Amino acid sequence: MNYQQILEDIYDEIKPYAHQGKVADYIPALAKVNPDQFGICITTIKGDTYTLGQVDTPFSIQSITKVFSLAYSFSILGDMLWQRVGKEPSGTAFNSLIQLEVENIPRNPFINAGAIVVADTLLSHLKSPEEDYLEFVRTISGNPRIDYNREVAASEKEKGYLNTAIANLLKYHGNLNNDIDDVLRFYFLQCSIEMSCRDLSKAFLPFANHKCAFHFGNVHLTASQVKRINAIMQTCGFYDEAGEFSYLVGLPGKSGVGGGINAVYPGRYSVAVWSPRLNSKGNSVMGIKALELLTTRTRESIF
Ligand code: GLN
Repeated sequence: MNYQQILEDIYDEIKPYAHQGKVADYIPALAKVNPDQFGICITTIKGDTYTLGQVDTPFSIQSITKVFSLAYSFSILGDMLWQRVGKEPSGTAFNSLIQLEVENIPRNPFINAGAIVVADTLLSHLKSPEEDYLEFVRTISGNPRIDYNREVAASEKEKGYLNTAIANLLKYHGNLNNDIDDVLRFYFLQCSIEMSCRDLSKAFLPFANHKCAFHFGNVHLTASQVKRINAIMQTCGFYDEAGEFSYLVGLPGKSGVGGGINAVYPGRYSVAVWSPRLNSKGNSVMGIKALELLTTRTRESIF
C-alpha cells in the first residue's frame, strides 16, 4: 500500500474544507491557536512512518487523553472500573449533564463525566498522580519532552462551569472519592497535555497492535483489555458523532477539541490527524474528512 501517495492525494482533496468550522473557544487559551494548520501521521506496526503537513507541532490533545487515562485506570481496577462508569454510547454532547442526572453513573469513560470519574480513580490509586500520569504518556509515546500546558489547564478551570457542575453531580451521587477541586484540577491537566501527530500516532500503536499484551511503565493490560478499549473507542470515541464516524471512517478512534483525532486500524497502523477547526460536535472537520478518504482509498477499515 502506497500510504505516502495516498496521503498526498487526500491532502489535495480536502483543501476545500480548510476554512470550515471554528476553533474551540470555550477554553480561552485554545482560542489563540492558528486555525489553519493540518498534519497527518501514519505509524505502522512494522515500524514505517508516513507524514504530511505539520506533524511535529505539539497541540492540546484534550479528550484524546481519555484513552490514556482509561488504560491506566483499567490496568489498576480491571472490571471493577465498570461499577463506576458504563460502556454504552451516550448519543449526547461530550459535556452533557442530562443522562447523569437520571442515571447517576456516566455512560462511558470518554464523555467528560466518565473521564472525571476515571481521573478520580487515578487520584485515589497513584502515589504521585501528576508525575505518574505524565510518565506513562511519555513512555507510551517514546518522547520524554511531552508535558502539561499549565496555562491551558488553568484557563479551562477558570471557565469550567459545566465540568464543575458535572463533578458536583457525581459527588452528590457518591461517585467521586476525592475533593471536587482536586479531581477537576487533575482532569484539566490531563487534557492540557501537548503532543504532535507523530507522538500521538506512536502512542496509539499498542492499541493497533491489539493482539499483544500492553506493558508501558506501570501500566499493564492483557490483549483482551486492549481490544476492549478499542471497542469503546469505536462506540463512544466521538460522542454524538460516533455513529457518523463509524459510518464514514470505520475505525476505532478518539477526538479532542484541540482538533486532534487518533484512529487505529487493528493489526496494521495507527493514524493521527490534526486540524484545529471543529464541527458542531467538537470534532475536527479536516481530520474526519482526511480519515474518511484514507479508509475509502485504501479500502482498509474494520468493516
Ligand atoms: N477538556 C475538554 C473539556 O472537558 C475536553 C473536551 C473534548 O476534547 N471533547 O471540555
